[in-house]
Amino acid sequence: MYLDVYIEDSFLGNQALTYDAHDFFVQPGTRVRITIRNRDIIGFVHRVYPREDKGFKVLPIQGVIDEAPILNEELFALAEWMRYRTVSPIIRCLQTILPNKLKPQSSAKAAKMERIVRRTDVDTVALTTRQQAFVDLFVIDQEMGVKEAQSIYSGFRTLVSKGYFELDDREVRYEEGVVEKSYHPLPLTADQQHVVDGVALNRAETYLLHGVTGSGKTEVYLQIAAKVRQQDQQVLILVPEISLTPQMIDRVSKRFGEDVAIYHSALNDQEKYEQYLRVKNHQVHIVVGTRSSVFMPFDNLGLIVVDEEHDSSYKQENVPYYHTRDIAIHRSETHQCPVILGSASPALETYARALRGVYTLLELESRINHNFPKVTVIDTQKALKSRQSAYLTEPLLAGIQARLDVNQQVVLLLNRRGYMTMLKTEDDEVLQCPNCDVALNYHKDDNSIRCHMCGYQIFGAPTINGKRVKLVGSGVGTQRLEEQIIALFPNARVGRMDADTTRKKNAHQQIIGDFIDHKFDILIGTQMIAKGLDIENVTLVGIVNADTSLAYTDYHAVETTFSMLLQAAGRSGRGRFEGEVMIQTANPDHYAIQCAIHQKYKHFFSQEMVYRKTASYPPYNYLISIILSDEDETKSFQAGQMYLDLIKDSGLQIIGPIMLRKMQRKHRCRIIIKGRDLEAMIALCHQSLDVFRTLNRTGVVVDVNPLTLE
Ligand code: ADP
Ligand code: ZN
Repeated sequence: MYLDVYIEDSFLGNQALTYDAHDFFVQPGTRVRITIRNRDIIGFVHRVYPREDKGFKVLPIQGVIDEAPILNEELFALAEWMRYRTVSPIIRCLQTILPNKLKPQSSAKAAKMERIVRRTDVDTVALTTRQQAFVDLFVIDQEMGVKEAQSIYSGFRTLVSKGYFELDDREVRYEEGVVEKSYHPLPLTADQQHVVDGVALNRAETYLLHGVTGSGKTEVYLQIAAKVRQQDQQVLILVPEISLTPQMIDRVSKRFGEDVAIYHSALNDQEKYEQYLRVKNHQVHIVVGTRSSVFMPFDNLGLIVVDEEHDSSYKQENVPYYHTRDIAIHRSETHQCPVILGSASPALETYARALRGVYTLLELESRINHNFPKVTVIDTQKALKSRQSAYLTEPLLAGIQARLDVNQQVVLLLNRRGYMTMLKTEDDEVLQCPNCDVALNYHKDDNSIRCHMCGYQIFGAPTINGKRVKLVGSGVGTQRLEEQIIALFPNARVGRMDADTTRKKNAHQQIIGDFIDHKFDILIGTQMIAKGLDIENVTLVGIVNADTSLAYTDYHAVETTFSMLLQAAGRSGRGRFEGEVMIQTANPDHYAIQCAIHQKYKHFFSQEMVYRKTASYPPYNYLISIILSDEDETKSFQAGQMYLDLIKDSGLQIIGPIMLRKMQRKHRCRIIIKGRDLEAMIALCHQSLDVFRTLNRTGVVVDVNPLTLE
């Protein structure tokens, strides 16, 4: 038989290579070993068919890795759909769908195996009491790890030699910590009941659940999930970044106990693979997980929830540039089940679709406890004029002190990590990353100078042209804020949560756990603390600088700022005490800030839609971004010109090519296709790229519906 095999090679695009199965039995959806130019690599079998004349010599494969397909038909079809929609190589889609352990790539390691004993069906005779007691632990075909068997009855190998047991290897299984079910359904409010009744099971339909923070959305998900479990179907609950939402995990685990698998980026490959198998083998039926869990091997899904559906972590920012929401909706169609998109500040695109009736709109308009925090806006321009710091204004400092006095807690949000966010030489030149066109940051804790784009770092004083230079820094990052807060409130206990303090596994949970236990009074952090935190004793949330994200030139910046403010405001006053939010900004009248203060989503939506319409941005138009990159600037620009020539007569609106900031040493040239007919735009991309790849070897990356144009 001949095999069409996909391999990792960026220039092949979606082309498969043909190999001969030789003596091996091979099925589609399995991995095989092949050699190319003396390299051993792993390929993914797409098609198996009888030998035919190819006009070239077909080489044999070297071996077979999987006896049975590792992807079911649905996931294979999903990979095909995804490669078309995202205009990406199929192999990259397959790699995205499969857990690392199973990825068809050269570096993938084999699954971890363990030795086990298995009870055979041979009847026992003349056993000792110890032996009989051991045998009685098993039914026919039941397995046990050798180590465990050894610890129960060290002489079990005698029973193996008598044929009562056999030894075998199996993939290491995940040992679950037992979770006590302790959380009972709450009697729903009339509004919640209305939402639960409004979601039809066993039918593919997309719902938008728009409800302010604290309106009881999570309770609604849990009760619909319970109905789905009663029908013996599976449930997928997607959350933005799991380590940031320990409370969601906690609530789902307590409601459904051992029926829940948690899947997120902090798990190592082996742990992820074990969770994957538990779902595949129907050991668990509910998955709570981040982006990649949308590819779990479900075969009977009854509900998908996308919580905080506006969150940008749902978009994968490398090839394939997929959006989790799109995959979720696609899978719901395959499984004929509902999808609930939930948010207090839905993405503009989502809300616009709900208004047009593409999605069904469900609303929860009031908070369960009917308390909204008091919001105060502090004008930092005025503060500067009265010689206060724009980072720690007098009202904010007074607010912090007042909370400390009554033993309550404070969250301070500053969306910049590091100590100083810009460094200048004495000649007033900004110190830039050698690999990227961005300013370098200073980190005081390890005295390093770092690039937040590519990870470039130097320690100690930098040298330029062989000469040590003295630097003047400016800008405040979380480290510097922490230092200032400690100096101003020497008796307060202060914690910090940002990408630098959360590198270690479980660091998020540790910090949040300590904060919940009131081991410190003030938590300083980047936007990662704005989400999902529900702590009764937090009565003040200070947004140190609401303008950091407004300053971006990106078309999404205003929306991002608005939803960040809305989320952050939702962190305060969730319990018995009245909460307050203080927002420091140089633009107090900006509509994003005004609408967030007054919790006016709909108002914000109409205003922002006007801007999007004027600029003909999404959701009024679709965008596809095509980036050609090369270490050589001229080559990347020439590639852009060449690509432009291929599409300029298509009748679609084309913007560019323009050169973007250099990133990770690559000069990048971008072209944007803009229009209302996404199908035609995607088709144009496919056609033109097929031609382009035969003419030019420059790397091309396509992002359909890009979230950012930076
Ligand atoms: P959201 O997910 O919209 O932020 P939650 O589901 O977390 O809202 O609900 C907010 C708070 O209200 C939680 O502490 C939750 O336990 C509580 N809650 C939710 N529904 C009810 C209910 N029907 N009765 C009483 N308390 C509820
Ligand atoms: Zn860099």
